[in-house]
Amino acid sequence: MNKWVYAFGGGEADGRADMKNLLGGKGANLAEMSRLGLPVPPGFTITTDVCTYFYDHGKQYPPELSGHVRAALDAVEKLTGMRFGDPSDPLLVSVRSGARASMPGMMDTVLNLGLNDETVEGLARKTGDARFAYDSYRRFIQMYGDVVLGVEHYRFEDVLDNVKRDRDFTLDTQLTADDWREVITGYKDVVKEELGQPFPQDPEAQLWGAIGAVFGSWMNQRANTYRRLHDIPASWGTAVNVQAMVFGNMGDDCATGVAFTRNPSTGANAFYGEFLVNAQGEDVVAGIRTPQPLTVAEREEGGSDLPCMEETMPETYAELAAIRDRLERHYTDMQDIEFTVQQGRLYILQTRNGKRTAAAALKIAVDMAGEGLIDETEAVRRIDPASLDQLLHPTLDPKAERQVIARGLPASPGAASGKVVMTADEAEKLAQMGERVVLVREETSPEDIHGMHAAAGILTTRGGMTSHAAVVARGMGRPCVSGAGELRIDHKNRTATVKNVVVKAGDIITLDGSTGEVMLGRVPTIQPELSGDFATLMEWADRIRRMGVRANAETPADARTAIKFGAEGVGLCRTEHMFFEADRIVAVRRMIVAETEEERRKALDELLPMQRRDFVELFTIMRGLPVTVRLLDPPLHEFLPRSEADFADVAKASGVDVLKIQHRASQLHESNPMLGHRGCRLGIAYPEISEMQARAIFEAVVEVASQSGDTVSPEIMIPLAFSKAELDILKAVIVRVAGEVEKASGTSLDYLVGTMVELPRACLLADELAETAEFFSFGTNDLTQTTYGISRDDASSFLPAYQGQGIVEQDPFITLDSVGVGELIRIGCERGRKTRPDIKLGICGEHGGDPASIRFCESVGLDYVSCSPYRVPIARLAAAQAALAAK
Ligand code: PEP
Ligand code: MG
Repeated sequence: MNKWVYAFGGGEADGRADMKNLLGGKGANLAEMSRLGLPVPPGFTITTDVCTYFYDHGKQYPPELSGHVRAALDAVEKLTGMRFGDPSDPLLVSVRSGARASMPGMMDTVLNLGLNDETVEGLARKTGDARFAYDSYRRFIQMYGDVVLGVEHYRFEDVLDNVKRDRDFTLDTQLTADDWREVITGYKDVVKEELGQPFPQDPEAQLWGAIGAVFGSWMNQRANTYRRLHDIPASWGTAVNVQAMVFGNMGDDCATGVAFTRNPSTGANAFYGEFLVNAQGEDVVAGIRTPQPLTVAEREEGGSDLPCMEETMPETYAELAAIRDRLERHYTDMQDIEFTVQQGRLYILQTRNGKRTAAAALKIAVDMAGEGLIDETEAVRRIDPASLDQLLHPTLDPKAERQVIARGLPASPGAASGKVVMTADEAEKLAQMGERVVLVREETSPEDIHGMHAAAGILTTRGGMTSHAAVVARGMGRPCVSGAGELRIDHKNRTATVKNVVVKAGDIITLDGSTGEVMLGRVPTIQPELSGDFATLMEWADRIRRMGVRANAETPADARTAIKFGAEGVGLCRTEHMFFEADRIVAVRRMIVAETEEERRKALDELLPMQRRDFVELFTIMRGLPVTVRLLDPPLHEFLPRSEADFADVAKASGVDVLKIQHRASQLHESNPMLGHRGCRLGIAYPEISEMQARAIFEAVVEVASQSGDTVSPEIMIPLAFSKAELDILKAVIVRVAGEVEKASGTSLDYLVGTMVELPRACLLADELAETAEFFSFGTNDLTQTTYGISRDDASSFLPAYQGQGIVEQDPFITLDSVGVGELIRIGCERGRKTRPDIKLGICGEHGGDPASIRFCESVGLDYVSCSPYRVPIARLAAAQAALAAK
């Protein structure tokens, strides 16, 4: 026979903590606490299976359910010595939802159930407090009326307001017992008027009404939305918890509160919480009265002048503090506890793993491992890698007020405040004068780089998570919000407008690149702390992980950040990003618009020393760690001259007429630059470009060896190849140049030549490619783009509609599509290994820093992941968790 109902109370329980799927989180923990002998008011849990049955059978219950509920209620009556519906000493119950995963506030709750015109008199007589009894009854009618009967909340509010107005009262506390009786009469009239029936007086009918409402609320719109946002399947269902009421509002020896076994914002190992004397649970949350601190330490720290529980109820407090220790040792995690004190007696109403900030999570995990409550592996498992983001950048002070005016994509984490500027030149100019600026643009391009560097933060109105602004900003560690589409930029008037807020150039705004929020004014920030617990946890993670973690870095600043965050090498040095500086972009443009090899070589000769200098600097910072240098891969639209000034600069540098440059630029203009003349196609058409780059790399290796003695073994990567033939041609150039440099310098060079796998064809022909390539690095930005046939720059305009309709669950440019793109990677790895069993395999698309994608990388056995420097710690932790999950 099915068991639909699980009882708890009196030191026993049918259920256990590990039965969350059946009993919901709340029910399972109530059972567990009851088994532990903690003072839990007795009750029972109707299982999530009943919820499933209910929805599978046209909202009917299993036929045995009513018998099971009655039996469980009998047991509660026995334990409490009270009877449900007893006119002289009525048992009252609460009815609450409780799903497998916590869904705070999403479903319904009914308190004080069992009160009616008769039992309320019994309660008044028994407690000797008529005011309390009537107040409880009116709360019940209001809650039940709202939740179960569907009477709109305001109808009850109106009745209460009228009574208060008649008596010139402002506070609920001014109402006497008689006043509450009048309110009750009014409430009952409202129900009758709305439903054409009186308020239900039969406690059993009330109970079934409430149970039905809780099961019904599983499918309400709020709960549906919450489930969708948190990936909770509708099939899980909710349980219903029916529990004997205890009252924190029966006088000054009563109280109710919430406690955390450790501080949820700092993680400090100190009891922490708040409580209210003579109040019901909802009053703490409602924020009408200011709650009091639990402990003396907390009172002193918070500068509160309210008396704390430790002082006003020392014995009950001591009992609660002992329960704190017990629960934490039992659950081996920080607990969030709800309690009530009824006439000096303590009851625990709920316990669950408490929510905490990233900093607190880290401290708690490391401390608990130190205390022997958990081991290091468990500590590593407990931290959400993505949450580390909060710790790596200066972040907005959580206590500060923020006036959000717009939202975009959280493109590059961290917080930044500054004056609004609308051009890169302006950004640079003001920054040189010591101003902090936020660069606001429709989108950015390489000529904005100096401005992006100069800016404290970047805001764009177009573009997704892998748009130019997003990628460059993440690389630089600049906070960036991209694609804030509600914002309209008016360059003529130098304003950005959103709804009716007009932000002028020079006004101060704040960006939160971790949430995508754009705020008016300056919001204060706090600095990250990378030592202590952070360093300890990272060390533990490093011991566990199998995959290496490298960084995508090209500038010295990026490389230093990468080292600081523990990168084990550079997995992608985008050489075209090294040309963004104002003095180089002209030479690069000259190279691009050149019509003859001779012209091009002139520009390349100018670039060679700069490029060599860059590599010397990069290799020196990386101190012999592996560095993967990608040959030039410039999507042309990012590099062609655009403005009059650009044309003039390039014309001057090339010594030709402006018109000629303009003509050449329009000749080179592409309809689909992302699929255009970029990647290795450039080197195939103009091998002298690859030749210059190879020379710069090898000469830098020689120079670094002679300067610092570090042996650098560069990994030269050919981008966007779809055939072995391309690799053969370019590898020949590289090998030839290497030979020349070896000869000239008298040193022998150690290097690899590999390819970036960014096209489906490259995955399918990986066995052939691996004949030439000594390593593969999956460029999943382009691989996603080319697998889906969706432009990485434009996807943000229609992906939300796709996500809204459930066609794609996550943005595939953020989280790797493991079934489609992932299948190609699997094939690529398998075929590559077939030809070259020890082929080195990595990933360097943005997915290399995304925890879910990192799990995928572990599953196909990649050797390393590479991500932007600020994501390195996230990747280290995620790689460790992936290794644990794979065991
Ligand atoms: C990629 O395509 O995944 C990649 C890392 O290269 P880029 O973003 O520079 O095209
Ligand atoms: Mg690419």
